[in-house]
Amino acid sequence: MFLLRELPIMKAQRSERFIGAHVSTRGGYLGAAKTALSLGASAFQYFPMNPRRLSTKIWNNQDAQACAQLCSEHGLLSIGHAPYPLNPAAEAAERELMVKLLKNALDITDACGSVGLVVHFGKYVGKDPLQGYKNIIQCLNSATQGYEGSSLILLENQAGEGAQLGLTMEEMVQIRKLCESPGKIGFCLDTCHAFASGLWQGHNWNELESKGLQLDYLPHMKAVHLNDSLHPYGSRRDRHANIGAGYIGRENFETLLNSPFLTHIPIVLETSSGTDGTHTQEIALVKSLVKNT
Ligand SMILES: [Zn+2]
Repeated sequence: MFLLRELPIMKAQRSERFIGAHVSTRGGYLGAAKTALSLGASAFQYFPMNPRRLSTKIWNNQDAQACAQLCSEHGLLSIGHAPYPLNPAAEAAERELMVKLLKNALDITDACGSVGLVVHFGKYVGKDPLQGYKNIIQCLNSATQGYEGSSLILLENQAGEGAQLGLTMEEMVQIRKLCESPGKIGFCLDTCHAFASGLWQGHNWNELESKGLQLDYLPHMKAVHLNDSLHPYGSRRDRHANIGAGYIGRENFETLLNSPFLTHIPIVLETSSGTDGTHTQEIALVKSLVKNT
């Protein structure tokens, strides 16, 4: 009797982790969700629009809704990733375009039933870094104005290349607090960026947990980009490696993956695919690092 009662609980605990990879939208948003399922994933990331251009997308709402439907039927969690050139810290002259794109991408991720839209924190080349932060706040305020959807803007921490801002939890938390609608903003932790920027040493996740709680970062961490790092700690270089094949190492990922803060949120690989051209094996590897109890 004891065993019968315990068994479902153990199963539930294991399935609290939603693990997957970035997938292509070649077959539409529904196609992306189907691909994720075929990989044995319970989470995925996709590009809602062309990732390399700053152009809005006329999207197929039926396709987006079919994606949302399939995800809810199969317990799949998804996140969208904003185009790379989208920079919330851009100067006022470019803001209108940034806001238009953010609104467009948010609407798509919302229709797809996604947890959020991952947006790089921003880069600022001007003389006064404070202006960069002000620009981000302005941009986020305008993008979320009148938005009633449930998909969040998820600010992603950066590795620290060039003029990148957003290397620390403190910056993320402050920007969120200073926004008009903090409830519409959460965070996506990229493990490679965190290691490269100096935010996470790899072996000190427990330290990060207490700091992240104290700062009010972890309660708003709604997604994780799970990437090992090709370069050492503090290198400020953004080169992802497969899990266990970089400087962070398998053991540190095991600790991270078993953190209670990684339950019920999408955990997505942004690494190169395996020999079969997919992430099937790496997803299985990551799942094997999650303890049953
Ligand atoms: Zn990332």
